[in-house]
Amino acid sequence: MTFLMLTLLGFLTLCDALDDPVDFLKRYGYLQTGYSNPNSLSEAIKKMQKFANLPETGVLDKPTLNLMSTPRCGISDHDHSGYSSSKWSKNKLTYKIINHTPDLGLAETARIIQEAFNKWAQVTPLTFTRAQGTTDLVIDFANLRHSSCSWDFDGPGGVLAHAFYPPDGRAHFDDDEHFTDKKPTGTNLLWVAAHEFGHAIGLTHSSVQGSLMFPYYQGYQDPFVLHENDISRIQQLYGGRGGATVPPPKTTLSPVCTNFYGDEYCKGIAYGCAYDHWKDFMSTNCYKTCFCKNLKKLKVI
Ligand SMILES: [Zn+2]
Ligand SMILES: [Zn+2]
Repeated sequence: MTFLMLTLLGFLTLCDALDDPVDFLKRYGYLQTGYSNPNSLSEAIKKMQKFANLPETGVLDKPTLNLMSTPRCGISDHDHSGYSSSKWSKNKLTYKIINHTPDLGLAETARIIQEAFNKWAQVTPLTFTRAQGTTDLVIDFANLRHSSCSWDFDGPGGVLAHAFYPPDGRAHFDDDEHFTDKKPTGTNLLWVAAHEFGHAIGLTHSSVQGSLMFPYYQGYQDPFVLHENDISRIQQLYGGRGGATVPPPKTTLSPVCTNFYGDEYCKGIAYGCAYDHWKDFMSTNCYKTCFCKNLKKLKVI
C-alpha cells in the first residue's frame, strides 16, 4: 500500500515535468512493453536508480523524479536490440552537416561539430573530415517528427538529441533546444554533440557520473575534457591515438557483481562474453556472468 501511495504521489507531482514515468522506463530500456507483474515497475525503478547512482528505493521519490525530468539523450540505457559495441571497420571517417542550428549559425555550428569530433580523435586513431555527397556520419538539426527517422523529438527540454550506432552514423539534434557555446545558459552544443558522436562511433551509455556518456545532461563544463571512463571505453574499441595499443580495461564499468538483466537471461547469452564486439554490452548488463570471476584481478575505479 505504501508503495502504491508513493508511486501515485510521484505520478501526481510529476505531471508538470514529465509526461509519463512508465513511458520513460520503457523508452530507456528499464521496463518491458506490456509488463504485467506489479513488481516489475518497482524493479524497473530500482534499475533506473542504480544506473544513475541514486538510492535504490524502487519508488518514484523526489530525486528520481527530478532526474527523470532532467534533459537527456534519447538513446536507451539498455538496448536489447543494439548489442551495440558495433564499431567502424575503418579509422578515416567522413561527415556532413545537413542542417545547422540558427541559435549559432552555420559557421559556429560547423566549428563546434568539428571540435566535438576532435575530442574522440585526440584519444583514438579515428579522423573525422567534413565532406560532400555520401559520408559515414550525417548530422542534422530538426524538430518533432523529422524525415526518415523513427524517433520523434519532443519540443524544448526532455530529449536533446539522438544518434545511431555504426554502421548507420546519423546524429540528430532537437532544434527546439536553445543551443549555446561557452556559456552556462541554454544547452551546450559541444557537450551534446560529443556525446552523440560517442554513440555514432559505437559507445553505449555509461553509468559513471561525470563521464561524457552518462545519459543525463550535466551542464556546461569549462574546460571540457573526456572522463577516463570514456577514454578507456573508446580505446577498447579502436586502440589509442596513432594505433597505440592500450592496456586492458582498468575499470570495470560495473564494479558491483550483479547482472542487470538477471542471472537466467545472462546465462542464456553467456557466449557473448567471448566476443569483443559484445564486451561493452555484457559488461553493462551481464557483468556477473562474464567478469566476476576475474574481479579480484581487476582494478576497480
Ligand atoms: Zn546518449
Ligand atoms: Zn532522428
